[in-house]
Amino acid sequence: TENIERHSYDVVVIGAGGAGLRAAIEARQAGKRVAVISKSLFGKAHTVMAEGGAAAAMGNVNPKDNWQVHFRDTMRGGKFLNHFRMAELHAKEAPDRIWELETWGALFDRTKEGKISQRNFGGHEYPRLAHVGDRTGLELIRTLQQRVVALQQEDKAQNGDYESHLRVFAETTIVRLLKDAQGRIAGAIGYYRETGRFVLFEAPAVILATGGIGRSYTVTSNSWEYTGDGHALALLAGATLVNMEFIQFHPTGMVWPPSVKGILVTESVRGDGGVLRNSEGKRFMFDYVPDVFRKQYAETEEEADRWYTDQENNRRPPELLPRDEVARSINAEVKAGRGTPNGGVYLDVSSRLPAEEIRRRLPSMYHQFKELADVDITAQPMEVGPTCHYVMGGVEVDPDTQGTKVPGLYAAGECAGGMHGSNRLGGNSLSDLLVFGRRAGLHAAEYVDSLEAPPAIVEADVDAAVDEALAPLNNSDGENPYTLHHDLQVTMNTLVGIIRKPGEVSEALTKLEEFKPRHHKVGSTGGRRFNPGWHVALDLRNMLIVSECVAKAALEREESRGGHTRDDFPTMSAKWRQVNLICSLNEDGTGVDLKHQPIPTVRQDLLELFEISELKKYFTDEELAGLGGGGD
Ligand code: FAD
Repeated sequence: TENIERHSYDVVVIGAGGAGLRAAIEARQAGKRVAVISKSLFGKAHTVMAEGGAAAAMGNVNPKDNWQVHFRDTMRGGKFLNHFRMAELHAKEAPDRIWELETWGALFDRTKEGKISQRNFGGHEYPRLAHVGDRTGLELIRTLQQRVVALQQEDKAQNGDYESHLRVFAETTIVRLLKDAQGRIAGAIGYYRETGRFVLFEAPAVILATGGIGRSYTVTSNSWEYTGDGHALALLAGATLVNMEFIQFHPTGMVWPPSVKGILVTESVRGDGGVLRNSEGKRFMFDYVPDVFRKQYAETEEEADRWYTDQENNRRPPELLPRDEVARSINAEVKAGRGTPNGGVYLDVSSRLPAEEIRRRLPSMYHQFKELADVDITAQPMEVGPTCHYVMGGVEVDPDTQGTKVPGLYAAGECAGGMHGSNRLGGNSLSDLLVFGRRAGLHAAEYVDSLEAPPAIVEADVDAAVDEALAPLNNSDGENPYTLHHDLQVTMNTLVGIIRKPGEVSEALTKLEEFKPRHHKVGSTGGRRFNPGWHVALDLRNMLIVSECVAKAALEREESRGGHTRDDFPTMSAKWRQVNLICSLNEDGTGVDLKHQPIPTVRQDLLELFEISELKKYFTDEELAGLGGGGD
């Protein structure tokens, strides 16, 4: 056996997106020695791709905004399945996290008075997204990296070594978490993608910040790294996942040309005035406003158009309904035969804003369409359709500390669950990363301080992880991992997509069972030096187990809510609102078990932020009676 490179840290952060970097900065500021690990190049994470902005109730554009309004919008967007405490902390702390970024050098767009500008987005009552054109994520990552470098420079000045307290391991994939004999986190093991050599991190605390799961679907806005690794690592280590059935299909992905199908078209296009039309030229979203949102949305095109300049006296356009509503509506129009030639609908900003303005406000979109589709969005409409974008479900965490069921294991950002309930509002992810990344870093550091003796890795577990990772290479005439990946994507896309039918989801579960033995037999030719086929073979374990969670939970939840639509149960059920679906690894480690768990009761003072008439749409009569409002 090879000599495995070993490192020892206080805190290991897996993932270098917004959540991972913010967590690492906090743990380092708490005096801990921290490693940050990323599968791709440092700086290239999903967070970079975020376009629209970060939601924070700073009240810069509309002084009526405050954390209570943000909390309300978040709970409405998530259809009250959010962990109320996370939604509360998020709404309260997001402004501080944005201002803090500014002190670290972030340059946000400005209002006329010189404050951080805020833009409108779906589901947000007031303009709330701090942004930098349509490249907000880039600025966020750039700022966090700059902060990492500043801390490294401090360390250099202190003890002569830039990397003494904060070191980045790029292009390094973690394949297993390691525990001690008592079941506490003791470290993680992975491999360098370039050399294929293993690297082991001993650490009493690990923070998962690995992002999403989109690569299990054919049409997705997610890039190659998003194979649900953090979700799977958590499950395999004995932690739990919550509400994995909720997947956000972003309404507007590119549908043409085929090579770019799924790439995101930012919601800012609609936030800044873009409208959706079907092949008959109709602004169809007016036909799809659900009752729960009727009061907040315009009924005529005239009112909707006036809203862009006068939000006090008009209601918002239905194009800015939460994403799940818009995605389902587009799906329905296309199914009814009113789609575009390439199977989408039209998104038009060209007839709504002067060309100059479009190029200024949406520079990335302008270039994206020009270069990838040869479409000039200042002169022609875009063709768009739903794309698998974000997973609301994730690792079950304590809302205050981000700690999981496994001592020493934390999760933050997209791979953690609870915050967004059944549907995430646009812009609430970037702020989530900052708020909960910081909290995870802080509490992981506290946990390390509380330990009397560091946990010790069990060497047999290291050997087992190495054997597991090398298996595909010892099986070079086995099945091609790309074939299995393709079959998995088609299965999830067609059978567990936007609209779920129980027969189809069951069929998906049968297929997932058939994929398991195939996965054990996948093989990759070639050696360990940069070998993408081998990497896919390893990622498949994660995609398969996470897909099983999604499908099992989708079959179990007999209602439609947010990112989960059941063909046979088309409405929300107040009974199901009380249920979180929890996945854990089954006893023999071959699959997942699912159980019902009561959702935490929303605190009284937070409930009082809503009118009883609104709560009636979500809560059971018993719950309302308990509130003193009385059910009917
Ligand atoms: P990510 O930024 O996804 O980073 C994950 C990190 O984990 C990466 O460094 C990756 O390499 C690493 N990693 C994964 N697996 C492993 C492993 N096994 N070992 C080691 N490292 C690993 N949200 C908003 O709020 N506003 C927006 O405007 C917005 N626009 C978006 C546009 C696009 C195109 C996309 C795809 C998403 C957008 N989102 C937006 C969502 C948001 O960007 C993501 O949810 C968020 O960035 C996730 O951040 P994260 O820190 O959790 O993970």
